[in-house]
Amino acid sequence: MRDFSRKPDSPAENRHPPAIFSVTLVRMVKTLWRPELKRWRVRMVAAFVLTLMAKALAVAAPVFLGEGINLLSDAMPGDNSPPAQGGALRFAALGFVGCILIYGAARFFSNALPQVRDSFFVRVTQNMNRVVAQEAFLHAQKQSLHFHLSRRAGALNRIIERGSGAMEFLLRFLVFNIGPTFVELAMAATVIGILYGPALSVVAVATVLAYTLFTVLITEWRNRLRRAMNEADTELKAVTMDTFTNFETVKAFAAEEREAVRFDGAMRRYMGHFIRSMKSMNLMNIGQEFIMTAGLVGVALTASLAVQQSSMRVGDIMAVILMMTNIYRPLNILGFAWREIKQSSVDVEKLYDLLDEAPSVADVPGAPPLLAKQGAIAFEGVSFAYEGRAPSLSEVSFSIEPGQFVGVVGPSGAGKSTLVKLLFRFYDAEKGRITIDDIDIRTVTQDSLRTALSLVPQDVSLFNDSLRVNVAYGCPGASEDAIRAALEKAQLAAFVDRLPLGLDTVVGERGLKLSGGERQRVGLARAILNDPCILVLDEATSSLDSGTEEEVQHALMAAARGRTTISIAHRLSTIAGADHIIVLDAGKIAETGTHADLITRGGLYARLWQKQRVESEKGMPVMPSPQPVSV
Ligand code: ATP
Repeated sequence: MRDFSRKPDSPAENRHPPAIFSVTLVRMVKTLWRPELKRWRVRMVAAFVLTLMAKALAVAAPVFLGEGINLLSDAMPGDNSPPAQGGALRFAALGFVGCILIYGAARFFSNALPQVRDSFFVRVTQNMNRVVAQEAFLHAQKQSLHFHLSRRAGALNRIIERGSGAMEFLLRFLVFNIGPTFVELAMAATVIGILYGPALSVVAVATVLAYTLFTVLITEWRNRLRRAMNEADTELKAVTMDTFTNFETVKAFAAEEREAVRFDGAMRRYMGHFIRSMKSMNLMNIGQEFIMTAGLVGVALTASLAVQQSSMRVGDIMAVILMMTNIYRPLNILGFAWREIKQSSVDVEKLYDLLDEAPSVADVPGAPPLLAKQGAIAFEGVSFAYEGRAPSLSEVSFSIEPGQFVGVVGPSGAGKSTLVKLLFRFYDAEKGRITIDDIDIRTVTQDSLRTALSLVPQDVSLFNDSLRVNVAYGCPGASEDAIRAALEKAQLAAFVDRLPLGLDTVVGERGLKLSGGERQRVGLARAILNDPCILVLDEATSSLDSGTEEEVQHALMAAARGRTTISIAHRLSTIAGADHIIVLDAGKIAETGTHADLITRGGLYARLWQKQRVESEKGMPVMPSPQPVSV
């Protein structure tokens, strides 16, 4: 049943090519031997030695029990034999007690040593887990925006969680279980062969081989069924996630029943696959049980023949049966382990793939930090297209003087946000270059670039934490006074004061316990607290009503003073006072100038302005132009 508890991969994730197991294994051992885990190396070696000792004791224990019984039975008078001498009987009894004590000790330690090993090895596996998961987590964070956008939500988390868990599993099973189990089988087969004859040894080994082969073949078949089941499960989870994350839309369209029907359909498909998978598991268990039982019957028959031929004694039979039971016990785990090892090696391989994936936007080796002081920005012939899409920006060139307030406007899809993404190096421009204070942003570290910039985005995303943590996200050590000042500037102080828990109020998942306008002001306070050289406002007041917008606009102007500011706006009134306005259309600069220049020119900007003026005079909300306007 263990395999059903696994969370399935998405179909795309399942298409991972089969891992080359030995390569994965070598990499894992290297991981284990990393300097961060150096202090645990003694424990690793000790654990391995203890495992081998336990296996050797497991093989030896039945031999002593059998010898003890043999000593006693030899000294017992048979039906037709003369009674044994008192001394010989006492000697046999003493020998029996000695053998039993050794058997007891060997049996005890063969079972206790693995427990001792696990108790101190757990620290090693947990630390390995932590080191690998932390590295993968950081690596994923350092990846470009494209990397994250092209992955399903939660997929990365799954890769990290499963990959590190799978490493622990592989380590425990291969090094401490399956590997030593085969060593135990070899030892047991040798001991049986030497002490009780090769026939018994052959039966034991043949049973093991048949069991292993059967398990491997049927597991391969079952894997296909499980994959189909996993895909059905992924679909089911996607339906659930989709519905719950879009609950507002579902409610608004009274689509609850429709969603329930969709859920039921996905559930039925999953159920069908689950039942098939369960049946295949039952079939496998029956087959395994048959082989094991046949092996035991074979051993018993072979032993009875040996007894008839007087080549085995009573104690020997006992020893062989015990040894066989010892061999079969790990065989049970072998079946389960084969399934899990295969899955785990794929999980580990995916984790290594993630670690191997070089970020598409990376710092050049030895890149210096950007020491932006002025905040001059220049785009020089910048072109960019998202993967598989038409160019979003073509040959865009402009420059912004330090301290200027520049508005960027244009119809929806014109490339305004793309411009900002390139400035932050979320993507690298395909052609041309972007400079800050005459330094190409590709030559400096991304950390320093993003410290020099602060973004108040269209949709401020918040962590499910307190307001304090969210406001101070860019400056974790900010003082209470500094946070307070930022809140004041963002026109948020009065709102926070009204909250019973003030700054300790938790904002809910993605900040959903705040209104759109409040979220945006938190984003603004966050940017103000950062005190950046360049401030970027991407529709920063779009969620505010006109009254609040006016207030926040004042705050924005105050925050923008003394630093270069780029403001993307649909509502042209918010940037009418800008030093300079860049009008984008279909990825190209259509025109530039001050508000007065552009109005006089009578081009795209003038038409947008006129349109918005008419709309606001009619009392209609001033909305962005739905249609691109051609120049
Ligand atoms: P809006 O005012 O509606 O926010 P915008 O002017 O900011 O629009 P961008 O978001 O820069 O426009 O988009 C420019 C073009 O690039 C659009 O055609 C858009 O569909 C496309 N685009 C944006 N982001 C991506 C992405 N991650 N992958 C593919 N195409 C994208």
